[in-house]
Amino acid sequence: MPTILITGANRGMGLEFARQYAAEGWRVLGTVRDPMAGRALSEAGGEVYVCDVADPAQVARLKASLAGVGLDILLNNAGIYGEKQEFGAVDPAAFMKVVAVDTLAPLKLAEAFADQMTGARIIAAVSSKMGAMSDNTSGGSYAYRAAKAALNMVIKGLAVDLAPRGILTVALSPGWVRTDMGGANAPLDAETAVAGMRKVMAGLTAGDSGAFIHYDGSRLSW
Ligand code: NDP
Repeated sequence: MPTILITGANRGMGLEFARQYAAEGWRVLGTVRDPMAGRALSEAGGEVYVCDVADPAQVARLKASLAGVGLDILLNNAGIYGEKQEFGAVDPAAFMKVVAVDTLAPLKLAEAFADQMTGARIIAAVSSKMGAMSDNTSGGSYAYRAAKAALNMVIKGLAVDLAPRGILTVALSPGWVRTDMGGANAPLDAETAVAGMRKVMAGLTAGDSGAFIHYDGSRLSW
């Protein structure tokens, strides 16, 4: 049975990924931060693991819990937008928190699970167009934009370092999606965005590894 590990799978797109993969017969391993928040994931057919991805001890515990489990896909979905990041009001601690969750955690999870990748061998991260230099016409959102731009570089670096092991990587852009983060005015529903990103991963080839790909399959510029 193909297996996927999804971070931040208790709500938003992470939960929708869990639903869709479980419905297709995948074994879904999902992480939540709050042990009490795993109900929807478990109802969706996922196995619930507690992990704050920014806490190295909890990542080590997750790895120990999943010892010997082969992963077709490691999906770094967990992310935060952050606060106090407009020009003139940037808070250093808040900025570093976004980097810890959105950039460093996917890299440390890749380090933790690279040896367990099997089958499709895909390490993916949900990035954002807000991390693209070419998309930045409005400024602001310094922490989130910088963290997602750096995440794209992490994904590119992993593509190079892990190619000898046959592991493919991809930075996914979901579009603007109606979740707690995206808000009620976003044009896309999670079902559509997630279905699109799943299709991108299903069609991923060695030539795509390290790329930044929109949910509709189009390649994005950095
Ligand atoms: P939500 O805010 O709905 O969900 C975020 C998820 O990430 C929650 O499960 C949350 O857990 C989890 N999370 C946050 N911090 C941590 C942490 N330190 N450790 C583990 N889990 C954590 O967001 P979305 O579903 O909208 O976003 C999913 C991904 O998509 C993110 O990476 C986001 O940046 C990206 N994205 C979203 C867009 C949108 O329009 N919605 C657009 C572009 C990118 P908890 O419930 O415990 O907080």
